[in-house]
Amino acid sequence: MISESRAGSDMQAFIHALPKVELHLHIEGALEPELMFRLARRNGLDLPYESIEQARAAYDFQDLQSFLDLYYQGARVLVQEQDFHDLAWAYLERCAAQNVIHTEIFFDPQAHTGRGVDLDVVLSGITRALAEGERRLGISSALILCFLRHLPPQEAMETFEQALDFRKYFIGVGLDSAEQGNPPAGFRDVFARARSEGMRLVAHAGEEGPAAYIWSALRDLRVERIDHGVRCTEDPELVAHLRDARIPLTVCPLSNVRLKVFDAMSGHNLPRLMEAGLVVTINSDDPAYFGGYIEENYHAVQQAFDLGRDELAQLARNAAEAAFVSSNRRRYLLERINEVVDSR
Ligand SMILES: [Zn+2]
Repeated sequence: MISESRAGSDMQAFIHALPKVELHLHIEGALEPELMFRLARRNGLDLPYESIEQARAAYDFQDLQSFLDLYYQGARVLVQEQDFHDLAWAYLERCAAQNVIHTEIFFDPQAHTGRGVDLDVVLSGITRALAEGERRLGISSALILCFLRHLPPQEAMETFEQALDFRKYFIGVGLDSAEQGNPPAGFRDVFARARSEGMRLVAHAGEEGPAAYIWSALRDLRVERIDHGVRCTEDPELVAHLRDARIPLTVCPLSNVRLKVFDAMSGHNLPRLMEAGLVVTINSDDPAYFGGYIEENYHAVQQAFDLGRDELAQLARNAAEAAFVSSNRRRYLLERINEVVDSR
């Protein structure tokens, strides 16, 4: 008889070995306190924390806004090209350690240009690290430029027009930051403009905001994936549409609990989303702030819902299906996943 702890560690080993694809990761949210202190020293900046421990202790959030306040404060230490490189490289090393084989990374240009850091500094630092990640770690990756929805849509448009000088560096646009009171519809023009430039489209919706914001992201912005989207279950018609159109949801379980979208992991609606036949994926969102990278997110939901290998493999395959990659690369991602699933 296999003891419960033995079964648990087998499952942990399976999750670790499973080749994973991450589709919802904010690079600024991968800024660990250790690196934050190192970059603050490098750039001669003061931090509002005495120590790394104090910084971690401050990561006790009431809601999305209380997190965003610390997130933007943390991002201030990112000044030079090397800072952005080091941040992205640190994330890629975590990816390698957790068997992430493809990742699509969000960045927030307005969080940097708004404090006088040029877009080419941001992008050359990150893309230099991504090229190294591809070469040295075998991790494929892409960048998605996110607009800050708490700022005026006109500023998003200006940001996009400037970013077109660097278009070879990113494949799509997204929408993040404070959701409540900032519905997707306001950003219709800039998404239409991005679409006309051949960009892939995603948006955060239905995290704190209502199901209507998910409809708006689909109809007004014409996005291909919904980031979070967990509140879709409040509208059965929406759930049916997401299922029939195979619109992926990039769900971030640890983030949802830390930001009190759900009171506890046991109350998360992931099982409902899966049972409804949605293309659900597991992601880390802002791992340095929410207590875990993708593997810890898989663990958390496996434990909370006693997920088996088939369900975990399905979550990984869903992410390969939802990735913005060539059909060749998708076939390769799925083969890598199936190899491990078949061998265990
Ligand atoms: Zn997010």
